[in-house]
Amino acid sequence: MNDPLPPGLYIVATPIGNLGDLSPRAADTLRRVQLVLAEDKRVSARLLAHAGSTARMMAYHDHSSEAQRDLVLARLAGEAVALVSDAGTPLISDPGYKLVRAARAAGHAIHTIPGPCAAIAALTLAGLPTDRFLFAGFLPVKAKARQEAIAELNAIRASLVFYESGPRLAEALGDLSIGLGKRDGAVAREISKLYEECVTGTLAELADRYVEAPPKGEIVIVVGPPPAVEEASDAALDQALDEALKSMTASRAAAAVAANLGVPRKRAYARALERAR
Ligand code: SAM
Repeated sequence: MNDPLPPGLYIVATPIGNLGDLSPRAADTLRRVQLVLAEDKRVSARLLAHAGSTARMMAYHDHSSEAQRDLVLARLAGEAVALVSDAGTPLISDPGYKLVRAARAAGHAIHTIPGPCAAIAALTLAGLPTDRFLFAGFLPVKAKARQEAIAELNAIRASLVFYESGPRLAEALGDLSIGLGKRDGAVAREISKLYEECVTGTLAELADRYVEAPPKGEIVIVVGPPPAVEEASDAALDQALDEALKSMTASRAAAAVAANLGVPRKRAYARALERAR
């Protein structure tokens, strides 16, 4: 008999394809809660059987009614309740944030059992910068809205991560290529499953590759950050400083020119002192 966990909400990450990725702590949690909130009870039934859990299940979505959320909140006071999604980490392009917000407001204990997430797994495969990234979820389905969403992301100096489906992949890559320019990208497919692959190339190359043959399975697109803006040459810096020094002190001229040309202030100031002599 598994000891029941203390009452509260347990956010449990589950595999994104390979059941072996269910962590021992996730399995233990699923065995020790009284209730599991699931997106699709049939999908989660397989997972519970694998974990050896006999917990009851209830369907939960963020668009579930307030009344149903209140019902869950009432249960949280006296029972351990797990939230799972069909695959991966709940709340990441999946239901849950409204429940977590409501549970937090009601003062219930909330625990997370971290684990697989397709966005993070794709970043580990892509070979693109991971120090800064923006997870953009699913792009809009309609072309105009998709292109507008991409235009909004153009200036962001970070890798971008999107969830996508096979039939829409080529179109999305084509719009990304037009909207973001020449950037490196990666298409990570069926991560942790038998046919896992990660194809890399420029966005235009990737769009060409998939236009003829839309791939099957689940997909993450990773896009590298925009190329670094080339720093102004010494000649361009000197010219701008000479102009600024006609009406400003070296310090102010350096600050203004550094901001205008996007060069480090220290470099502009050192040069300004020389030009002002
Ligand atoms: N909550 C999940 C997570 O943590 O990754 C994501 C749920 S979202 C509704 C489902 C999308 O995640 C799929 O359409 C696909 O873009 C991506 N995805 C899920 N599993 C994947 C896998 N094994 N390989 C590649 N992408 C996957």
